[in-house]
Amino acid sequence: MPYIKVALDVPLPKVFDYSCAEAAPHHVGLRVRVPFGAKQAVGVIMAVTDAPTIDPSKVRPAREILSDLAPLPEDLLELLRFVSDYYHHPIGEVVLAALPTRYRSGTTRRTVATVAISSDGSAALRAGLDRSPVAAAMLAMLESRGPLGERELAELPPAQRRALRRLVARGFARLVAHTASPVAAPASMPPTLTAEQSAFVAGFSESADRFRTWLLHGITGSGKTEVYLAVMARVVAASRQVLLLVPEIGLTPQLEATLRARFPACPLVTLHSSLAASQRADNWAAAQRGAARIVVGTRSAVFAPLPRLGLIVVDEEHDVSYKQNEGVRYSARDLAIWRARQRDVPIILGSATPSLESYAAASGGRYTLARLTQRPNAATLPTVKLVSTAALRIEGGVAPAMLAAIEDRVARREQVLVFINRRGYAPVLLCYACGWAPVCPRCAAHTVLHRTRTLMLCHHCGREEAVPASCTQCGNADLQPVGFGTQRIEATIRSALPAARLLRVDRDTTRTREAWPRMRQAIVQREVDVLVGTQLLSKGHDFEGVSLVCVLNADRSLYSTDFRASEQLFAQLLQVSGRAGRGALPGEVLIQTAFASHPLYAAVCAHDYDAFARMLFEERRLAGLPPFVYQALLRAEAPRSHRALDFLAHAAGLAAPLAAGVSVYDPAPAAMPRLQGRERAQLLVQSQSRTALHRFLDRWCLALWDAKTTRARWVLDVDPLEI
Ligand SMILES: [Zn+2]
Ligand SMILES: [Zn+2]
Repeated sequence: MPYIKVALDVPLPKVFDYSCAEAAPHHVGLRVRVPFGAKQAVGVIMAVTDAPTIDPSKVRPAREILSDLAPLPEDLLELLRFVSDYYHHPIGEVVLAALPTRYRSGTTRRTVATVAISSDGSAALRAGLDRSPVAAAMLAMLESRGPLGERELAELPPAQRRALRRLVARGFARLVAHTASPVAAPASMPPTLTAEQSAFVAGFSESADRFRTWLLHGITGSGKTEVYLAVMARVVAASRQVLLLVPEIGLTPQLEATLRARFPACPLVTLHSSLAASQRADNWAAAQRGAARIVVGTRSAVFAPLPRLGLIVVDEEHDVSYKQNEGVRYSARDLAIWRARQRDVPIILGSATPSLESYAAASGGRYTLARLTQRPNAATLPTVKLVSTAALRIEGGVAPAMLAAIEDRVARREQVLVFINRRGYAPVLLCYACGWAPVCPRCAAHTVLHRTRTLMLCHHCGREEAVPASCTQCGNADLQPVGFGTQRIEATIRSALPAARLLRVDRDTTRTREAWPRMRQAIVQREVDVLVGTQLLSKGHDFEGVSLVCVLNADRSLYSTDFRASEQLFAQLLQVSGRAGRGALPGEVLIQTAFASHPLYAAVCAHDYDAFARMLFEERRLAGLPPFVYQALLRAEAPRSHRALDFLAHAAGLAAPLAAGVSVYDPAPAAMPRLQGRERAQLLVQSQSRTALHRFLDRWCLALWDAKTTRARWVLDVDPLEI
């Protein structure tokens, strides 16, 4: 009797044995429905064997092998095994998390994506045949608004959904298959590449058929995307697949349009979390069949099966969103490199501000460094100046010199981008009499004052509360907003420049899916003079009319306890600066700061990434921080603080005898010690040797699993980005 080993979505570091009479070696990688406890579960067959690991009399039979989807290819299973080993995360959770949600359940029945009115339905509607008012209303809606998509269907109240099902049964409405092809873009021709760009493409082409990691360091506006497109063209012309990873979904519609215009005949799919579940499953399947030649996606797309993979591109490789922050905490950039090596294909990491890890790898010769140092069309980099606030008392958050510069640009009909990395009105509402300020009862954080909808909002858990009329401690009725968010800056500029047309772009104003495209349109058509926004505005958007970028509140990250904060601030400032002067207008950047002599700002003003990277590199070397050491963080959380810390103390005890060549630090509260009512703590371990660290982690994790604690939830974060 054959047995199968099944990965199941449970937090245990093992696969589960089942008997299965029909199982054969070619079933490895298929999904299977099995009994689990009193329930059923869907898992993935990882191996077919002759004998189970446990007592055969205790092995239960599998219910059904699901063959609606081709088996996961062996190279993908190998990647997932590596992820489980390297990140020390249960294999079942890793495997199931890599699948699109739709495939994690056993639904072989395809749910229908779209419902449209049939000709019988139209006739019935005109003849007034339907006597049920709900059904008649549904028919009228289908007739006037067109087919309903999956999302709209899901939002219908139950009565309407039932009516719709009856209409389908009667032939008045019909189910329509996906129309996967999006709006066709007009084909566009590639521009002539600059000498630098051509040199890269030529160098790349010499070794385009084998593994090599390229670090493409190109200043903002140097046309990295054009370079990607040029090398991608070669790969798709050879009938192979390209995986293009991008940090955030905000970037994909624009990029997608560019790609479709450049490769009109090339099947392209996107993979990201804002796709409808069935669309995502379809796109994934198209990648797996090899039908999709270009796969553009965020982080999790690194797990897409790609039988004809020829190239991986990781755009903005320094971006922290490549690191998954819950569940299995993988780095999509690092896994992309692993995958490129596994498949022996080249990989390009692109950035204007490479991560220090990649910079180190390129300096040490592990990656091939290529540079783009010029902007095409002889456009110059923007001038960056500091607006010192050291001796000033700033009313309204914006220095007078900065307001004057904004006014000047608006008068010249040029656009201004004001960047402040904080939404809401003011981060704190303070009682000056006693020092009290409202905090979230569930999180260790102040609640943020919002004015458009007047309330106090916790930015960590989303909890909303009324704005207190007076101090709950001393009764003082004069509570003052302290600090600045997008709403308050918007108010300041509005009162200083009442005639200017303002637009605020932050998470509060871009909540709906249609909001951002509409705003983008308004910006491009110059219906807006001043944009006030958060980091949503900093990446990848080219607005030709923007000639001035103002940066507020950057100082906050200068003296952070997080050693990566300055690296991220530098990247962000260069990124934001790159938004100025993308068109014909020369760009200018003003950074408001109380620390005008800080070396980070000097490097930003000089656009000198290398100087800054060398400085940081030296700092990290002296302090013994990554990339000079390898770290892992054991994160624990529990309903009460001492339990998380108790658990970590126990974990530290288990670590002590195993820790050869590894430093084990003391358990400490997390940077955010309370979140959503749970107390959080962490334990850092690090080593100068990655091998020593992982040898230790292997044994430590076994001991931790054996400890079978139920007192605290824990997860290991290997190569953590936030400590
Ligand atoms: Zn008070
Ligand atoms: Zn909260």
